[in-house]
Amino acid sequence: MSLPDSSKPHVLVLGGGLAGISAACHLLERDCRVTLVEKRPFLGGRTFSFEHHPLGYDSAVPPESSGSLSEEANSGKAGPSFQVDNGQHVFLGCCTSYIDLLKKLGSHSQAYLQPQLHVEIRRTGESRDAPRTCALASVPFLPAPFHILPSFLRYSHLGIGDRLRVFYGLLCVRFTRRHHPSLEVQSFHKWLKAHGQSEIAISRFWDIIILATLNDDSKNVSASIALMVYQEGVLKGRNSANVGFSRVGLSELMGNPGRDLILAGGGSILSGRKVSDLIVEDTADGSEKMLAGVKLADGETLRGDIYISALPFGDLATILPPDLADSPFFRGTRELATAPIVNVHIWYDRQVMHTKGEPFVAFLDSPLQWVFDKSRMQGAEPTGPSGQYICVSISGAWDYMEMPKADIRRAVLQEMEAAFPQAAHAQVRDALVIKSPATFRCTPGSASLRPSTTTPIGNLFLAGDWTDTGWPSTMEGAVRSGAAAADAVSSAVPHG
Ligand SMILES: Cc1cc2nc3c(=O)[nH]c(=O)nc-3n(C[C@H](O)[C@H](O)[C@H](O)COP(=O)(O)OP(=O)(O)OC[C@H]3O[C@@H](n4cnc5c(N)ncnc54)[C@H](O)[C@@H]3O)c2cc1C
Repeated sequence: MSLPDSSKPHVLVLGGGLAGISAACHLLERDCRVTLVEKRPFLGGRTFSFEHHPLGYDSAVPPESSGSLSEEANSGKAGPSFQVDNGQHVFLGCCTSYIDLLKKLGSHSQAYLQPQLHVEIRRTGESRDAPRTCALASVPFLPAPFHILPSFLRYSHLGIGDRLRVFYGLLCVRFTRRHHPSLEVQSFHKWLKAHGQSEIAISRFWDIIILATLNDDSKNVSASIALMVYQEGVLKGRNSANVGFSRVGLSELMGNPGRDLILAGGGSILSGRKVSDLIVEDTADGSEKMLAGVKLADGETLRGDIYISALPFGDLATILPPDLADSPFFRGTRELATAPIVNVHIWYDRQVMHTKGEPFVAFLDSPLQWVFDKSRMQGAEPTGPSGQYICVSISGAWDYMEMPKADIRRAVLQEMEAAFPQAAHAQVRDALVIKSPATFRCTPGSASLRPSTTTPIGNLFLAGDWTDTGWPSTMEGAVRSGAAAADAVSSAVPHG
């Protein structure tokens, strides 16, 4: 490969999500000149927050009786304001690269990570009376994978037979080599059935974690990626499944400190600038393709020595020359698919959600899936005058994508009343529905669509959660991909 023999190569990083931020930060540490180009006015990509002034704080007429619950985010200045995330994000103790990035950004103290795993799981009873609750939790003095065994033996959402079968299944997970090619083309559901798991055990245990991490159920994900989730996330170490979340808006945690660190390190950021074309040329001897520059939507052409695309696959497909987009290497940019997430943010005038431990609860047999007490997560008292701010997060949300937001809101508010009886007596000040095509799908066979960091274009490297990281569509995968692209740049450039 003919890359410039420079002690300070100029790297253009395309896309300012976590992958782009991670790549830029690593490159600046290695004395590269970095320009990051991002189409939106802010960094953070799929992790961002915005200011919202919920309705109903300053009005004599409660918004539900006036029928004016906000359809879209409201940045008007009436009433208190809240930082609202585009989607609730959690991370696990095993997300070491993501945690390291937060430390590098100086925002680590704004995130919380459980000292030990504790997740309350509730099932709304058939009679719709008080939900039954139990927890998955780790025990500090037992080594993995036995650290979750005691809570598992008390896991009353399954009968004793299924509990024993699940424990056997976890042992099989522990000792299965997930990289075997046959496991990549097989669904996890099929693997679970072959290892003695019942439908009830799958829906009340295995799919809780699969849906939350892979945004799909076990029928639609490959066995190898699901095994990865259980091996790395649940069974690897005593703290690997500990749950973490941001105490502040996501932009404050990542996008803004990312911008500040890149600028402080001497990098440049061109925000609000969309890349519209990659200019690909053959080298003089015709032996290789090289990127000669990138064209922006406003007509300007930018040139660097080396390029890292940290764009989502669909966006990369639109800026590649068509022959390259159709080539075997880049075919994932056209063939990978996304899975949606719906978040419903609700402002109640009083506390409706009470939890014993952590400020979140998972639900079985309910469309609510995960409910987060955002007031507590952000350090506010839900009993105070602001009332309680709740976020409901629904993964694999295909059923909701075509549904009008007003209908989603109505359905979720009704389920909240079933799950938290106090909600029936509370006034809903505001409710905001956000639909996102959130993550790429890890369907059986999809791993072959995820490209490597190095590409057939000599000076173009790829990052992005969807590249071949071995991780699902997560912040950890994105951060790792950026670091891998920076490593690839370092090893490709002959330093003087
Ligand atoms: C609702 C929701 C909930 C999620 N929950 C979790 C969770 O709980 N835990 C977890 O780990 N992950 C979660 N994820 C996934 C996580 O957010 C992503 O995996 C991660 O942020 C992807 O980062 P990225 O940098 O690879 O891509 P992106 O964040 O998509 O960044 C790509 C960037 O490229 C920019 N761009 C696109 N086209 C152009 C162009 N032509 N020119 C210039 N710039 C361009 C975009 O604006 C964007 O900033 C969630 C995602 C969503 C949406």
